[in-house]
Amino acid sequence: MQEVKNDKKPLITFWIAAVLILLLFNFILVPFMNNREIKQVDYGTFMKMTQDKEIGKVQIQDDKIVFTDKSGKNVYETGVMPDENLTDRLYSSGAKFSKEIVEQMSPMASFMLYWIVPLLIFIFIGWLMRRQMNKALGGDSMMFGGEGMGGLGRSKAKVYVESSDGIMFSDVAGEEEAKQSLSEIVTYLHDPAKYEEIGAKMPKGILLVGPPGTGKTMLAKAVAGESKVPFFSISGSEFVEMFVGMGASKVRDLFKQAKEKAPCIVFIDEIDAIGQKRSAGSAYGGNDEREQTLNQLLTEMDGFEDNTGVIILAATNRPESLDPALTRPGRFDRRVPVELPDLKGRENILKVHARKIRTGPDVDFNKIARMAAGASGAELANIVNEAALRAVREGRKYATEADMEESIETVIAGYQKKNAILSDEEKKVVSYHEVGHALVAALQDGTAPVQKITIIPRTSGALGYTMQVDKGQKNLYTKEELLSQIATLTGGRAAEEVKFGHVTTGASNDIEKATKLARQMITRYGMADDFGMVALETVTNQYLGGDTSLACSPETQAKIDEQVVALVEKQHQKALSLLRENSGKLDEIAEYLYEKETITGDEFMSILNGDE
Ligand code: ADP
Ligand code: ZN
Repeated sequence: MQEVKNDKKPLITFWIAAVLILLLFNFILVPFMNNREIKQVDYGTFMKMTQDKEIGKVQIQDDKIVFTDKSGKNVYETGVMPDENLTDRLYSSGAKFSKEIVEQMSPMASFMLYWIVPLLIFIFIGWLMRRQMNKALGGDSMMFGGEGMGGLGRSKAKVYVESSDGIMFSDVAGEEEAKQSLSEIVTYLHDPAKYEEIGAKMPKGILLVGPPGTGKTMLAKAVAGESKVPFFSISGSEFVEMFVGMGASKVRDLFKQAKEKAPCIVFIDEIDAIGQKRSAGSAYGGNDEREQTLNQLLTEMDGFEDNTGVIILAATNRPESLDPALTRPGRFDRRVPVELPDLKGRENILKVHARKIRTGPDVDFNKIARMAAGASGAELANIVNEAALRAVREGRKYATEADMEESIETVIAGYQKKNAILSDEEKKVVSYHEVGHALVAALQDGTAPVQKITIIPRTSGALGYTMQVDKGQKNLYTKEELLSQIATLTGGRAAEEVKFGHVTTGASNDIEKATKLARQMITRYGMADDFGMVALETVTNQYLGGDTSLACSPETQAKIDEQVVALVEKQHQKALSLLRENSGKLDEIAEYLYEKETITGDEFMSILNGDE
């Protein structure tokens, strides 16, 4: 990323540091160095050394005597005593009377050495730093007409000019609707006159909304890349400064620069950082800085005329928290959803990223995409990279299907914990638990086929897991399918009960998921007989975790809780009876898993169906 900014701040820090070091040098280091060699001795030692003819040079001052030994290396100091024929004795011992023992530099020379020389060094380093900085800046700003340093220091604010990295729409896989919606901007930037003739106005601001890692930044860069225009990028959080007024001045500066470079794309990431709903009671300050910044942004957007060629793209994953003023006509009045990719989209994203690494011929991208249900583009990119890393670790020349599968599991469940110590008894419990999930799933209709069962612990804390993979894209679930899912989730614990007659803590994650699903069925999907199609909960945070808020009376809440318990318990009983009826298979498969530690869905099915 390129930073075009006022460069005074780092220089001031530099000078403060320089002065501090200089003072340190002069007041601590220099006196320390000078005094290092002078040893304080008592008068007796001095007399003895005189007697032994060990004195080299000597100087008698008013209050002290300074002398050296014969080698002249060690310097000593002692007090003055009334001693009449000291001079004679010294003379006969061969000591030389010297005017200066500790060589004193002339004041001029020492001033030069201690103050001027370090200063010169600092100036030199500073000059080097500046030159380095200018070089970096000058290089990139060639892109914008070779302005170089001319634009520096002009503004108080910091604005980022980033190259769009040559990203094109073809680099963004999936997200076809978003691309279509944005391609109009590209056409406009190519030929604004065509739009002006008719009198069509381009939207000034476009809001890209969707979960993190779905390619919003990429899309914005691709718009700039396709239109071949400069790309200004700044994150909303960068506007929020420590000093009041700085954010607003940054906004002003951003727009000033953008207008000079028009046509161009301005991309504001995480716009929710400044664009949050303004609170009613912030008369006492509240978050004044953020509001000032937001107001400035609104003013700027209103201020520039239509068709100036500055298109503002903003991204957020919390659209519900944005101030309504931002989304009014004339501001961010177009909203482009950038959702998590579907099966086809995931497959394409995997392929786009797999182009950058070497893959083996056996990789079935459709299968990998099915295994990675719910993954975002960023996670898929990560999966491909993990596969490549694993291939290198294992000394292969290319990434195989197995590498891809392992990296999905790594991304989902963490790395394998090879040295985790599990007792045989625990391993046995985990085997039964996992097979319990798999069996309950396989014995019901409308569940996703089992892909893999493993009891190798993961760094996420999972001691094992059962992976189910849908055959294709799944958009709708029936009530019966959801019930089967809950039964499958309770299957692990149920197997422990059937086999061992007691339960362990290993089911906590299952319990959490089952409860959540049951609750959603009742409060959001209208699948409870008593309540019918009433929204008892509303989602407040669609893209981040999907937090919900209750919208019902306390009595109803109590009733919901009761029904959740009943619903999960009913499925738990179903799982128990399925496993009791098939306890022979449960034993057989669990023993097999215990031996092998990881089995495929095919192995599982063939034991279940009894063909060896
Ligand atoms: P966002 O801005 O939505 O959080 P980014 O655009 O920063 O997401 O995406 C992060 C990374 O994830 C990208 O650099 C890219 O490698 C990958 N990625 C995300 N979505 C896609 C996609 N649709 N196609 C290809 N790669 C994608
Ligand atoms: Zn489980």
